[in-house]
Amino acid sequence: MTRHDWTKEEILEIYNKPMMELLYEAATIHRKHHDPNKVQVSTLLSIKTGGCPEDCGYCPQAARYHTDIEGNDLMSVSQVKAQALRAKSGGSSRVCMGAAWRNVKDGEEFDNVLEMVRTINKLDMEVCCTLGMVTENQAQRLAEAGLYAYNHNLDSSEEYYKEVISTRGYQDRLDTIGNVRKTNVTVCSGGIIGMGESLEDRAGMLVALATLNPQPESTPINALVPVEGTPLEEQQKVSIWEMLRMVATTRIVMPETQVRLSAGRTDMSREGQAMCFFAGANSIFAGDKLLTTPNPDVNEDMEMFKLLGLEPQKAFEKKAKPESVSADESQYKPLGEKPKWSRPGHKIERNLEAKAKSKA
Ligand code: SF4
Repeated sequence: MTRHDWTKEEILEIYNKPMMELLYEAATIHRKHHDPNKVQVSTLLSIKTGGCPEDCGYCPQAARYHTDIEGNDLMSVSQVKAQALRAKSGGSSRVCMGAAWRNVKDGEEFDNVLEMVRTINKLDMEVCCTLGMVTENQAQRLAEAGLYAYNHNLDSSEEYYKEVISTRGYQDRLDTIGNVRKTNVTVCSGGIIGMGESLEDRAGMLVALATLNPQPESTPINALVPVEGTPLEEQQKVSIWEMLRMVATTRIVMPETQVRLSAGRTDMSREGQAMCFFAGANSIFAGDKLLTTPNPDVNEDMEMFKLLGLEPQKAFEKKAKPESVSADESQYKPLGEKPKWSRPGHKIERNLEAKAKSKA
């Protein structure tokens, strides 16, 4: 059964295990819940860049920091469609559209985003949005447009969060996740390591995520990319060993979640990324930019996949909301066995659900 009662002490104990033991345990759980040779490829597209009123200390898009990113107004639907088609031909099964907003405001821009969601949905790709805070009604409108996932990261532990962001609280984040949960849209929520937080804070963030019931369907683990002009510009980059520990611990406490290697992947060698896949990472962000920070080239990623015998996961291959798996966690799952929740007809069922809701 997936546990929702993890404590910080238990998670710290896992995080601090001898590395080989930690990796073996994480890899064993990973094989039990997922096909270890499949990795989801998601393209992150900045549909509105810069000028954000928030003060997230890691973010070059905050208007108050003096960084050299170029701001852009909301992209057009046709621009987004062209980028999505490009992403699909590069092997992506999901497009995540990010807008540098504090929260979604009803009106023309939100209507355009809804049209973008409908457009990408028709391309048979999973659509995700990260638009800041949303109300229940806005989450429902996104669901009706066919949104598959909504990203809203917790960033860090509740305690450390206050050191990084002052313009909105941890509870605001949890409220947005709660609003998304009231719809059939899946939740994507994770955080960032390397912001100066302690190991207790890393464990605290995982407690906050793993005790959500249900747990997020996907969890991005970002390594801070310090950007000149932001308050965190002087931070030391995290080592691959810290990343591995974080990925492995996330996999152990959130066995069914897609764990995504996100920002900071350009600083990781192929060997390092391979170890992360072994430790339970099964998703990457593709594209040469992650909103504003650099990311490996798509071709490089596909070469790495070939080298490692990895296959991009197809769109809608995972079911929308994971069920608990009750089998013995310690059993080894043989290579190549299909995950038990693999459900090819999934998209049709979701669409029927959305239609039923819109008629109600
Ligand atoms: S992380 Fe998001 S909310 Fe925070 S400053 Fe950047 S764009 Fe704004």
